[in-house]
Amino acid sequence: MPRSNSSELITLRVKVVRALRDKWKKELDKNPFANEHFGGFVNELLSEMLEKDEFLKKYAPFLSEEGCTKDILYIKDIKENKTAEIYLNDNDNKLYCSLCKTFNCFHIQFAIATPKIAKLNIKPKAILYKELELNIQKEKKTSGRKKSSRSTVHQ
Ligand SMILES: [Zn+2]
Repeated sequence: MPRSNSSELITLRVKVVRALRDKWKKELDKNPFANEHFGGFVNELLSEMLEKDEFLKKYAPFLSEEGCTKDILYIKDIKENKTAEIYLNDNDNKLYCSLCKTFNCFHIQFAIATPKIAKLNIKPKAILYKELELNIQKEKKTSGRKKSSRSTVHQ
């Protein structure tokens, strides 16, 4: 792997490398401009993440992450001088803002753009719906294949 003098060796967790390789391979399949070198791909991914942070600072300079639990993401709003609590609605797993009492405000847009959003626990019901949707899409694409034996999961 080519390395410039200004590069630095870092240690990545095995689990992270595995997930990154999977992502890279999928990217190579669908994106003709994907980096052919794994290291280059990881560098680009991290750079894009940093660029996204910078974008968010310009896009919403009055909003910032205040922390999170496994259920709530706290977004500080300097304009309002309040903190919005963003959490997943119990019924349908839609993101809800306690400050605006709505499912589609600027705080939610901001929250979705932060990496911390992934810390929120999506209830199994919503994951199941997504899986079923994917299975249906797969079945439509590959007609003639046998249906998946997994149909319902009882909670
Ligand atoms: Zn809001």
